[in-house]
Amino acid sequence: MDVTFWGVRGSIPIPGTETTRWGGNSSCVEVRHGDLPPLVLDCGTGARALGQKLAREHTRRVHLLFSHLHADHIFGLPFFLPLYAPGAHIDVGVPAYLDEEARERIGRYLNGTFHPTRLRDVPAELGIFAVRAGSRVPLDGWEVTSVRLNHPGGSVGYRVTAGHRTFAYITDTAPFAQPGQGVAAGEPPTPAEKRIIAFLEGCRVVVYDTMYDKEEYLEKMTWGHSYPEYAVALCREAGVEQLVLFHHLPEAADDDLDARAARFASSTAPRVVLAREGDTLEV
Ligand SMILES: [Zn+2]
Ligand SMILES: [Zn+2]
Repeated sequence: MDVTFWGVRGSIPIPGTETTRWGGNSSCVEVRHGDLPPLVLDCGTGARALGQKLAREHTRRVHLLFSHLHADHIFGLPFFLPLYAPGAHIDVGVPAYLDEEARERIGRYLNGTFHPTRLRDVPAELGIFAVRAGSRVPLDGWEVTSVRLNHPGGSVGYRVTAGHRTFAYITDTAPFAQPGQGVAAGEPPTPAEKRIIAFLEGCRVVVYDTMYDKEEYLEKMTWGHSYPEYAVALCREAGVEQLVLFHHLPEAADDDLDARAARFASSTAPRVVLAREGDTLEV
């Protein structure tokens, strides 16, 4: 299973000279395994280049799952070329309770106001369905389950298995314990942490929202994002082999991310790397 990062930024895309090495596009991750339809996680601005690649490959079937619909995760949707390929079929999973509600949520964005493309005019066939956090996600070939995260308005994490390998995509989320409690404080996991740890157990690779450092998290605890030491503690408890720090802070320039990568370079349980736009990771 190969995981490719097309967008690694949180909150807003950051083009410019300070993000040339780590990338400036917002969240979009492509998962591939053998002949299975590509599985796309979130549709931030990174989805534009991914869509161009899929169009070159004449991909006719795509699975797309949203963690949630904050702008940094959906902005690339109307720029995702497979949408405009007649005969293409895209399954679109949206956190919601009912399928009609999921369709209505996408329709609120593609309604002619925020972008000229209207949902009803999209040439590809869109199979929009509700993802209920905590349940299995019905996708051909891929084994995917979901979990509820800790984010304003809600967000959903995914665990993907193919070819006896498992990987998880956990963004956007705040920690599952108050400061001084839980695994990051060296205490037993809180009930909420136990639920996430069970979800991550057996994962070889975990991509995790670590937008803040700890000091910034303590100032913005209700904003719904984590910090690296928290993700390390959680992944260590779950026996994860490799943690990928993701959803980088808009203010973090290349030099800042270099420094962060160096800070965690010696971590072994789990190994820690930073998501870099354009990189492919073999799970
Ligand atoms: Zn985000
Ligand atoms: Zn968000």
